[in-house]
Amino acid sequence: MNAHHSHSHPHGPTDAETRPPKQEQEEATTEITEVAPGILRTQLPISMPGLGHVNCYVLEDERGIAVVDPGLPGAESWTHLVDRIGRAGYAVTDVHTVVVTHSHPDHFGGAMRLRHETGADIVTHESFRTMYDAAISEESEDSDDLVVNSPDDQAAAIERYMTRPSPWGGRRSGPPLAFIERMRADSEGGEHFFDRLVPTRPLIDGQTIRLARREWVAMHTPGHTNDHLCLYDPEFGVVFTGDHVLPTITPHISGLGPFQDPLAMFFDSLTRMAEMSDVKVALPAHGHPFADLRGRAEDIIEHHGDRLDVIRGASDNLPAGTVNDYMKVLFRERSWGEMAESETYAHLEHLRELGEFTRASVDGIARYTAV
Ligand SMILES: [Zn+2]
Ligand SMILES: [Zn+2]
Repeated sequence: MNAHHSHSHPHGPTDAETRPPKQEQEEATTEITEVAPGILRTQLPISMPGLGHVNCYVLEDERGIAVVDPGLPGAESWTHLVDRIGRAGYAVTDVHTVVVTHSHPDHFGGAMRLRHETGADIVTHESFRTMYDAAISEESEDSDDLVVNSPDDQAAAIERYMTRPSPWGGRRSGPPLAFIERMRADSEGGEHFFDRLVPTRPLIDGQTIRLARREWVAMHTPGHTNDHLCLYDPEFGVVFTGDHVLPTITPHISGLGPFQDPLAMFFDSLTRMAEMSDVKVALPAHGHPFADLRGRAEDIIEHHGDRLDVIRGASDNLPAGTVNDYMKVLFRERSWGEMAESETYAHLEHLRELGEFTRASVDGIARYTAV
């Protein structure tokens, strides 16, 4: 499942052997906690490196409830979702709105089934697009006769898409084949994994939406993904931060995607968080609610600034270094792999955009040299 979150975690290296589990690693409990007026925190189990649960927030109002990030696809997660909604005092049929902060499966997975069962509105940023959408639409454009409407066809399209070479010449990160296979098998059992999740209420930055009896302002916060959405309630000073700002781990920044410099976008999105002065509680997608959004956003900016300095400092010893060379400088060995490469690539491309490095391609492999 790890890589599936592909563009998303490992959230940087962890020290699982030596430190107590970080809050994002805690296993999901069945606890229901009111974390802000009319907002309940529930936790759904997920199992990925560095992550033990995803927070699914329940927002109460006169029409029923909205849920934010309803967990992974699949029957198992659905059972937990139904349980948590019940413990909060509601039924699935009370769900009128599903907010999805971004296009990772532990966040959007439960949305399709909720949509099917209740007709709930799906709220995302307008640029929301899953890798499955990308895989399938790309193949449809390439090929006249490919009909990608069966789970088998779709699983195959995703597998092909995810195993294309990366822009730097290495292998691309993607979901383990076992995960695709499980999704394909579950699809035969009536799940809707490969259905396109089409937002019914796509939001743009600055637009407002009424949930939990108050107005929320949409904040487009690209970086972790291009389509990341935060919601801000100025009345009570509450922000849903998704994976954009997490309490103790830094979200994975993937160099793959439509934009040249995702790290620059992430810095901009973090700066917006750091500049918000009246926040009382930040509600992250993993880990505990926290108060100091400004301080946490500044810490993450500093973390990536430090990583850039490490690359700058290593460049003397790495003439024409590859992404893989720099990955070995940035990450401890147990984190080496496609995701670490992708994050390294994002940092090198950022330095290239800043004019500090140049890139040449030698035998299809990108090589970076400090200017
Ligand atoms: Zn994510
Ligand atoms: Zn996540």
